[in-house]
Amino acid sequence: MLNEISPSLFDSKYFHYHEIGDEDFLLCYRDNEVLLKKSGDDYEIPRKRDFTESIESSVYLFSINSSHCFGIVEPQINHASFEFHDIFILRNLKNKEVAWIGSVGQQLMTWYNNNRYCGRCGSKTELKEDERATVCPECGLVIYPKISPAIIVAITCNNKILLAKGKHYKGDFYSLIAGYVDVGESIEETVIREVKEEVGLDIKNLKYYKSQPWPFSASVMLGFTAEADDTQQIIIEENEIKEAGWFERENLPPHSSGVSISGDLITAFEKGIL
Ligand SMILES: [Zn+2]
Repeated sequence: MLNEISPSLFDSKYFHYHEIGDEDFLLCYRDNEVLLKKSGDDYEIPRKRDFTESIESSVYLFSINSSHCFGIVEPQINHASFEFHDIFILRNLKNKEVAWIGSVGQQLMTWYNNNRYCGRCGSKTELKEDERATVCPECGLVIYPKISPAIIVAITCNNKILLAKGKHYKGDFYSLIAGYVDVGESIEETVIREVKEEVGLDIKNLKYYKSQPWPFSASVMLGFTAEADDTQQIIIEENEIKEAGWFERENLPPHSSGVSISGDLITAFEKGIL
């Protein structure tokens, strides 16, 4: 999965660092794009030494191994091999560390850019020194990065798994039923509601599988398995789902890749682990 970068060490602990070392990574975003440096047939995150001019407006984000990673705003780009790419590219890079820090960096810089002004009084905010948050110097409002919990569930019936094509997928592939946790709802209630809403099925034997942070939507995916009787009629929610159906273990259609917990669950079913 995208977040599995062992033996590399990712450390999200916040420090109020200002000094950028030559080997430190600089993460820069423009709309939905990330600045990458071409390296053979793959990409790298640019390091401080790749920039010739001084760097201003940097924000410390996290570290990977012994390198610190900073977010930068509006750099002067003068390196011929620098290119902005849609952040979707990060899911398919060979270099797993680049994919992961580029993804989490985008989540944090989006949060930072969306909270430069106080939502309560409109004043310009500042970065808090002792933790990862912005603080309003006028009214004291503290804003932490928001993480939205979401569920994803592999529904099986004997040798079959329920797969669905979402209306908003970038690509032609099948995945699992997923959705955000609503206000006032327990995680278990979310799973039962989402399955009923999206495909009209009642489930049983709901079990927790594992979780995955998913920076692209600032969420954490909580993975589950469940069973459903395949004699029930599938009724799809047409605003969300293009098609859905039962597929046998030995004959699965193109589906989500292993970078996501969705692909991880489907592969586990395919291998007979679920
Ligand atoms: Zn304020």
